[in-house]
Parts: sequence; C-alpha cells; structure tokens
Amino acid sequence: MMDRAMTLSETLIREHWLSEADYAELIACRTPEAAARLAEAALALRRAIYGDAVFTRGLIEISSVCKNDCLYCGIRRSNRHAERYRLTPEDILSCAEEGYGLGFRTFVLQGGEDPFFTDAVLCGVVSAIKARFPDCAVTLSMGERSRESYQALHDAGADRYLLRHETADPDHYARLHPAEMSFENRMRCLRDLRDIGYQVGCGFMVGSPFQTEATLAKDLAFIERFKPDMCGIGPFVPHHDTPFRDEPAGTLELTLFLLSVIRLIHPPVLLPATTALGTIHPQGRELGIQAGANVVMPNLSPVEVRKKYMLYDNKICTGEESAQCRGCLEVRMRAIGCYLAVDRGDIRPY
Ligand code: SAH
Repeated sequence: MMDRAMTLSETLIREHWLSEADYAELIACRTPEAAARLAEAALALRRAIYGDAVFTRGLIEISSVCKNDCLYCGIRRSNRHAERYRLTPEDILSCAEEGYGLGFRTFVLQGGEDPFFTDAVLCGVVSAIKARFPDCAVTLSMGERSRESYQALHDAGADRYLLRHETADPDHYARLHPAEMSFENRMRCLRDLRDIGYQVGCGFMVGSPFQTEATLAKDLAFIERFKPDMCGIGPFVPHHDTPFRDEPAGTLELTLFLLSVIRLIHPPVLLPATTALGTIHPQGRELGIQAGANVVMPNLSPVEVRKKYMLYDNKICTGEESAQCRGCLEVRMRAIGCYLAVDRGDIRPY
C-alpha cells in the first residue's frame, strides 16, 4: 500500500501537475521516501533535457544601495549598519571581462533598487557588455521598474530578467514588504517583462516568515501557470539587522524537496542551486543539483565589495576571487558527475 505522500508523488511524476489543494497536502505529508522518489524523477528529467551540463551565470552585484525596505533583506533602506557601494560602469565591464576569460557566457547584473542606475546609465552598461561580448546573454535583476524602463533595457540588449515573485499569496506578500510595495505591482512587472520578450525568472524564499503549506501551494500553482524560463528558490536566511533577525532559516530538506517538485511541474525550467542553499549547508549546491537544479551562479563581484552585498548572514564566497569561485564550483560539480558548461545556457525545449 502506498501512503498519501507516495500516491501524490507518483501522480505529480506522471501528470506534471497537481491541484493547489494537493500541492499543499503533498508538502504537509511529505516523507523522506517521497522526497527520494521525487528527486530521482526530477534528476532523470533534468538529465534527459540538459545532460550532465550545469549552466553558470556570473553574478555581478552592482549596488548595495536600495530605496526599498523589504523586511527580510539586509540591504533594506532602513538598515543603517549596511555598508553601501555602487560599481561604476567601468567596474562592471571589467568584471565581465574577467568572467568571459573564465568561461562565463551569461552575466547577471543584480542590485538594490538604486536610483543611480537610471535607464540611461543601465542601458549604457547593457549595450557596452553586449557590444564587447556578442555571444553572451545579459540578465538583469534590478527589481521593479516601469514598463518603459524594461522596454528600454530590452532594446539596449538585455536578454533575461530575474524578479522573484517572493510569494504568490497577496496577504503573505504584505507581511514581507512595506506598505508602499504591492503584490499587484510585482505581478505587473512579471507580465510586462514577459510581454516585452525577456526570458523571465520568478521565485521565492523557502521558509520565509509566515509561509505555510497553503502559500507554498500557491507558489507552485503560479509556477505551473506562468511557466517561467528561470525559477530562483533558496532558503530564507535571517539577517541580524532586519525585523526578521530572530526568525528561523528555511531548511535544506524543504528546499531540496521543492526543487524536485518544480523540476517536475515545469521540466525545462532553468533552476539554480543558489548561494543561500550553499550557505545553510556545506554541500547545499551539490545536493540542489542532485535534487533537479541545473544552474549555479558564482560570484564575479570585485572582492572589495562582496562583504557589503549582505542580503543575509553568513553568505558564502565573500572572500574569494572570481577565478576561485568558478574553480571551486567546477570541482564540486565534477565530484557529482556534472561539469560547468561554457555556454549561454538558454532554456531548451521539452
Ligand atoms: N533588488 C532586486 C535583487 C536583489 S535581492 C530584486 O528585488 O529583485 C535578490 C533576492 O534575494 C530577493 O528576490 C530575495 O528573494 C532574496 N533574499 C533577500 N533577502 C534574503 C534573505 N534574508 N534570505 C534569503 N534570500 C534573501
């Protein structure tokens, strides 16, 4: 006799979707056996689509200045202790230069919502990277902007945009963000990005405060509907200078479980094993890849600024050089039978 967790898992493996109520139940009644079965199926699917190649994205953290006040985030504007920096366009170009030499063919520019990065400035950076490295993809992760701004950045050559939806439950969203931010605007941004023609990434933190099986079920149903090209999920990790300082971190176990579920719901999705996952467990990223993830995002930021881009406590890779980060991940991926592809790493049809 199969238990309920196994029955739901077999249905998900066969059908690639469940009702929202069943997603919630699967999470609530999950067992180590069901997790192992889902991971096995997710891994087989990942290998069928992507083989043993793990895609890399060179992450350039371009600014720790932010006008937003997200309750979970270490660089929120009301954190007086956060050290602020911003890279110049020249700095960003030299990070990309170094990254290209190391084999990166996608650059992710991520930062706080820094008013310095107007459309004119950011478009200049994007077009300079695209002109210098025409075989590379440029991904932006710069938060909420107007449709016109997203359009201008796309016209300048940006290929992809990462904007985690954070939670698909509007009430939960309101408990993670200040009143001036809204779930509706987040969704508007994701729709605009998709309409304009970006490859779009959404995602959420696992174990964020007030998250429940019901809110996670909404996240999964949203992913099923929206079919993002990328989906970033990693554990919530508390930051000591935020209102959530005393909240527990998300767990390795639930994060791995959800990585497998997301691979099964949307097989071709580009799914990173995140730095936050590597932060809560020494083998977190390897385990993420073995649960169905297929992307890693080593840090390409200048070493001098890395400790200042502290979204959460104990973030890893803040002392290493870019080459060391790539080398370290290369060794880690080889140890689990994978390799880092020198490739733009676009989504593949399934
Ligand atoms: N400002 C941009 C990008 C930077 S934040 C934006 O809003 O998209 C990138 C992601 O880091 C966020 O979407 C959030 O999900 C994650 N993050 C922020 N604080 C975190 C924390 N304390 N623990 C884990 N992840 C966090």
